[in-house]
Amino acid sequence: MEKQTVIIGAGLIGLSCADSLIRRGMKVSIFEAADQAGLGASQYNSGMIHPSQTIAPPGTLSALSIKSARRLISLAEKSQDMLRSRRAQLKCSDIDRPAGTIQLYDNEATQVKLSALYDQIGIANKNYDGPWAMEKPALMFPNDASGSARLFSRLLSEDIRRRGGVFHLGQSATPVIEDGRVSGIKAGKSFHPANRTIIACGAKTPELLEPLGLNIPIVPVKGHAIVFGRPDNELPSIPIMHFKSHSALTVFEDHVRLSGTLGETDSQILYKIWKRINPDMVSQLGKPLLHWSADRPVSQLARPIIAKTPIDGLFINSGHGHMGWSLCTASGELMADIITQDRMEPEFELPPRAES
Ligand SMILES: Cc1cc2nc3c(=O)[nH]c(=O)nc-3n(C[C@H](O)[C@H](O)[C@H](O)COP(=O)(O)OP(=O)(O)OC[C@H]3O[C@@H](n4cnc5c(N)ncnc54)[C@H](O)[C@@H]3O)c2cc1C
Repeated sequence: MEKQTVIIGAGLIGLSCADSLIRRGMKVSIFEAADQAGLGASQYNSGMIHPSQTIAPPGTLSALSIKSARRLISLAEKSQDMLRSRRAQLKCSDIDRPAGTIQLYDNEATQVKLSALYDQIGIANKNYDGPWAMEKPALMFPNDASGSARLFSRLLSEDIRRRGGVFHLGQSATPVIEDGRVSGIKAGKSFHPANRTIIACGAKTPELLEPLGLNIPIVPVKGHAIVFGRPDNELPSIPIMHFKSHSALTVFEDHVRLSGTLGETDSQILYKIWKRINPDMVSQLGKPLLHWSADRPVSQLARPIIAKTPIDGLFINSGHGHMGWSLCTASGELMADIITQDRMEPEFELPPRAES
């Protein structure tokens, strides 16, 4: 029988897996619970392609060895390069945005401490005291980039379809295991045979794998966005992050987003944070067009899990937390390497305790 690969989840990660596998000549079907691809955690994210924040909050460096941190940063740098060329091929209209991100701190001691930490892990950073520092101590990360993940997901899913990928939208799926290996997936009452299944369900990933005896250390961490029309006044052309609140101001082609925060219950908090930082700018944004919330898939290992599971034919690509846009393309490519070359990547394996 011809080998059929099913991907469950059409977020940034599932789409990137499909892209890489189709490039290697594989047949791919994608099951997505929502009625469009890319409506999960990425839809209104902050748009930053920021290898600088791979080990963020930077205080969590202790959760990873320096070697693992470097491996993760190199995945982010590779992803940034690949993403640039994919965005160019897909003719993303925002490809020529200026490079860089700026991060604001509430005091100079934090700025100095973090700059030293960024130097230690090899992340380019420099003091920034231009107008968008908003009278706060700030660092600029000149090698970061930004762009719309929503636009990319839409164009990539159209391209995947053109290249033979089959989407099953509005279909919530679960893997079916027989005799210790994947035999297919179940969606509603239908069974679809498959030799391989990749779980790329974002924050829902543990829910799908727990009934199979796999305890995946990924937890949902809520984030929010408030979307505004783009006013005429001057706004920053690169994203501005506020370190303490884990939030950002990003100006896209036709709108402005305040987004981020970690685990807060309500998007209104973004108003409070940014009004405190720059009240004039926030009042000029006018009435919001929409409020949005989503769960980030945050891995308790401080890095994503991109691996085969102990169940034959079952793979996982999830846990990208605040970094899914930055890491998506190289994560899809690594998944394709693991599948087609039957290789292990120890830095992204499941922890040994995952099997219960
Ligand atoms: C407010 C906010 C700001 C962010 N800012 C940035 C940023 O600036 N830069 C950055 O790099 N990252 C950022 N992120 C993180 C990034 O958006 C996520 O890491 C990324 O979207 C995760 O992608 P994913 O494909 O794993 O999950 P998702 O995008 O959530 O996709 C998972 C998909 O699986 C589907 N699904 C779930 N269960 C099933 C099932 N049983 N059957 C079928 N389908 C299923 C869901 O419907 C969903 O479409 C941000 C996130 C948030 C919330």
